[in-house]
Amino acid sequence: MNSGNDPANSAPATAGPDTTNSAVAPAATAATLITNIAGLVTNDPSLGDGSPLGLIQDAALVIEGDRVVWTGESSKAPATDNRVDAGGRAVIPGFVDSHSHLVFAGDRTAEFNARMSGRAYEAGGIRTTVAATRAATDAELEANLTRYLREALRQGTTTFETKSGYGLTVEDEARALRIAARHTEEVTYLGAHIVSPDYADDPAAYVDLVTGPMLDACAPHARWIDVFCEKGAFDGDQARAILTAGKARGLLPRVHANQLSYGPGVRLAVELDAASADHCTHLTDADVDALASGSTVATLLPGAEFSTRARWPDARRLLDAGVTVALSTDCNPGSSFTSSMPFCVALAVRDMGMTPDEALWSATAGGAAALRRTDVGRLTPGARADLALLDAPSHVHLAYRPGVPLVARVWRAGVASDG
Ligand SMILES: [Zn+2]
Repeated sequence: MNSGNDPANSAPATAGPDTTNSAVAPAATAATLITNIAGLVTNDPSLGDGSPLGLIQDAALVIEGDRVVWTGESSKAPATDNRVDAGGRAVIPGFVDSHSHLVFAGDRTAEFNARMSGRAYEAGGIRTTVAATRAATDAELEANLTRYLREALRQGTTTFETKSGYGLTVEDEARALRIAARHTEEVTYLGAHIVSPDYADDPAAYVDLVTGPMLDACAPHARWIDVFCEKGAFDGDQARAILTAGKARGLLPRVHANQLSYGPGVRLAVELDAASADHCTHLTDADVDALASGSTVATLLPGAEFSTRARWPDARRLLDAGVTVALSTDCNPGSSFTSSMPFCVALAVRDMGMTPDEALWSATAGGAAALRRTDVGRLTPGARADLALLDAPSHVHLAYRPGVPLVARVWRAGVASDG
């Protein structure tokens, strides 16, 4: 949008009235008022209805540059040069997808088809993607990443984390992180995704590589370090060694924990003050107590359970214990090939015991907490202008109308694009 004075580029608004006036001023510098919002989710409990969502009815919001500078009731909104009429629809913070694996090549359609058809499938799994990723050029990997980012943006995702983990050599892991870092500041080093097939006979030597030369090559390009703590991947002692080495290099820990079985991952995450323990599908009472007593967010990834017909994580149990819960896609070509946060919200409400309000909070403010960010996941003055206009009068429709493309327009750092 904001296509200047060239009428050929002025796509007509397809959903509701839109009176944006931006003939000369660049969108990212002029103030824009978005008004006639039926329900504005701010995630600030001091605003609106006083709930965790801080829901303001009949609301307006002002963007200036890449920031939100005002939110409140539309009747009190200040005058601005530009004005967007939301047409009585809902506005939410942009989704914060705090867990994805988007630097990869190849495809695992056959594996998914076999799994869903009840057939055995040999030679599948992460190794398939590792082989395809190693064989791809940098340009192919970046084009693939960019494609999925555009797809996610159209569905309202304005902040995302992504990982390495399909290279498993020093050079292939480092290049994955270099490519990711061109698109997000939330880059995670996951050399410890699985033991590299090259080290199948000597996992200890692979841990030495991950904590040594590979870490040296990867640390400059990443903010986070992650490990898949699971039977068949890395045990508790190996995971502790890997995360501790990363912390010593200034990386912040997060953990793939307790996805496929009970294990030490969640308690290790809390012990090391990881920002997030991700999956949390198999939890003992001690695991839940540990999460409730620490500052580690439990990030639930229902796309993985959906795509593998696995048991759902119990969000209700975590919320009732006082744990901070995030929702994320886990977008990857093997076990959760969805980039859709609205889909995850719908699953969380339908199958994981979350209310529609809780699920939306977890997909926005919860994701921000899982990335230890305070500038995204909320719509209050000073926050980044990341928001989604829904083709619906309420955010509840995200779960009420599953599978429907409800995101009409997205603003990311103040720049608009149609959904
Ligand atoms: Zn993952």
